[in-house]
Amino acid sequence: MTNKAAGEARKGYEKFTGKCLSCGYQFEFASYTSDGDKVRRRDGDISFCINCSATAEFSGNGLKPVDEKELPIEVKAGIEATRQAWLKVKYK
Ligand SMILES: [Zn+2]
Repeated sequence: MTNKAAGEARKGYEKFTGKCLSCGYQFEFASYTSDGDKVRRRDGDISFCINCSATAEFSGNGLKPVDEKELPIEVKAGIEATRQAWLKVKYK
């Protein structure tokens, strides 16, 4: 990817710079995992760090901590499935 491309919005991604609350990994984009580019990120959606697998909650233009134990069971199941896929890629 060129530097020019990195600065432009990509299909299915939103320019969203920030740092992971757990490991400090700096990211530049948030992707729409639910329905591709049909559903935009909303406050309360869960983020998943691709560096350490920590979760947080989107809030305005940032992230805030989230207690996974307090999330609905279907959300926890989605996080666990994502974490299992992440582990396979990270440690293959
Ligand atoms: Zn992280």
